[in-house]
Amino acid sequence: MRVLLKPGRERSLAHRHPWIFSGAIDKLSGAPGSGDTVRVSASDGRFLAWAAWSPRSQIRARVWSFDEREQPDDDFFRRRVERALARRRMLAPESADGLAGALRLVHCEADGLPGLIVDRYADTLVMQVLSAGIERWRDLLADALIGQTGCARIYERSDAEVRELEGLPARSGVLRGDAPPAPLEIVEHGLRYAVDIPGGQKTGFYLDQRDNRRRIRELAAGREMLNGFCYTGGFSIAAFAGGASSVVSVDSSGAALELARRNARANGFEGPGAEWIEADVFRYLRDARGQGRRFDLVVLDPPKLAPTEKHAPAAARAYKDINLNALKLLRPGGLLATFSCSGGVSADLFQKIVAGAAVDAGASATLLERYSAAPDHPVLLEFPQGEYLKGLLVRRN
Ligand code: SAH
Repeated sequence: MRVLLKPGRERSLAHRHPWIFSGAIDKLSGAPGSGDTVRVSASDGRFLAWAAWSPRSQIRARVWSFDEREQPDDDFFRRRVERALARRRMLAPESADGLAGALRLVHCEADGLPGLIVDRYADTLVMQVLSAGIERWRDLLADALIGQTGCARIYERSDAEVRELEGLPARSGVLRGDAPPAPLEIVEHGLRYAVDIPGGQKTGFYLDQRDNRRRIRELAAGREMLNGFCYTGGFSIAAFAGGASSVVSVDSSGAALELARRNARANGFEGPGAEWIEADVFRYLRDARGQGRRFDLVVLDPPKLAPTEKHAPAAARAYKDINLNALKLLRPGGLLATFSCSGGVSADLFQKIVAGAAVDAGASATLLERYSAAPDHPVLLEFPQGEYLKGLLVRRN
C-alpha cells in the first residue's frame, strides 16, 4: 500500500520529522486499514518512509523508518524495544541493572515507536498505546517487553483521551502476568512513593519530574513551601527530605491527596508542618493572599493546559494567573519553581508569560535555572514537539 505526497510536501519528512498530515497526501493506492504499514513516496515517486496508517487522525501516518530496507516486521519491533532498553541502561550506568527502578523505558517518537509509552515501576510495566500503528503491534510489543525486561507483568493504561483522535476505544487492565500490587511502591532518589497503577493519573506517577524533585530537595532547607498541583506529594516529600520547615500541598484530587499523605507517612514526614488541602489551586492562591499567608518556596506543576498551539492563548492566561498570584505570595528572596507540560506552549512563550506575571505582580524577579524532563524522556532534535516539559526557577528579589 502506497501513499504519494503532494509536490513540495516531502520537505518535513526529508528533515526526518515523523508525522504526515492528511493535507500533504496526494494519492493513496490500496486500502490500508487502521495501523497498516504504508510506503510513503515524494511526488516524483522517490521513497521517503515506512509509516503506520491512522485513517481517523489528522496525523494520517506516523513514520516507523526512513530506511527503505527496514520494512517493519516482527523483528523490527523487537529491535526497537531492544534499542530503547539499551539507551536506558546507558543513562543509569551506576546501578548494576539500570532498569531496576522506576523509569520510562519507551518514549514514543524519541524511541522510534510513535504512540507507545512504557513506564517501569519495580517489576511492573505500564503500557500506554496511543496510536493506530502501535495498536496493531501491541501483542508483539508486550511479549518483547516482558521477554527483554524479565518483569512480572504489564498493566495497560490505554485510557488517554488522545486515543479518541485515533478512533481507538479506551482500554485498561492486566495485559501480561497478574494484577499489580495495590498500591505498588517505588524508590526515587532514596524516597518511597506508593503508585496506584489502575487508578492513578497517566501511568500512575509523573516520572518526568524525577530530577526536578531532587533539585527542589536541595533548595528546600529551612523554607516554608507551597506545592500547587501536588498530585501524590512528589515535590512535597522531596522538600521535607531537604529540610523544609513546612509544606502546604494543594490538589483538586482527593484520591491523589490520600496517597500523598500515605507517602509522607512512609518517609517519616507526618509532623504538624504538613498541610494537605483539597482545592482548586487557582482559587487557593487568591484566598491565601487574602489570608496573609506567605511562603519562601512555591512549586507550580499544573496539568497540561494547552495540548496544541490552538489552545495557547487561553493557556497563557491561566499560566499568567497562577504565576502572578504565586509571586505575590513569595517573601523577598523566595523561590518559584514553575512548570508547563503543555506541548502547545513553547519554552520561549512560557518564559515570556512568567516575565509578564512578575511585572504585573509588581515584583523584580531573576531567572536562576531552567528545567526539562528527566533524560529517560528524551527529545529528538528533528521532532521539537516532543519537548513538552519546561520549568523555570525564579527568585523574587
Ligand atoms: N507535581 C506532581 C504532578 C502534578 S500533575 C508530581 O510531582 O507528582 C497535575 C496535578 O494537578 C494532578 O494531580 C491534578 O489532580 C491536579 N489538578 C488539575 N487541575 C487542578 C486544579 N484546578 N486545582 C488543583 N489541582 C489540580
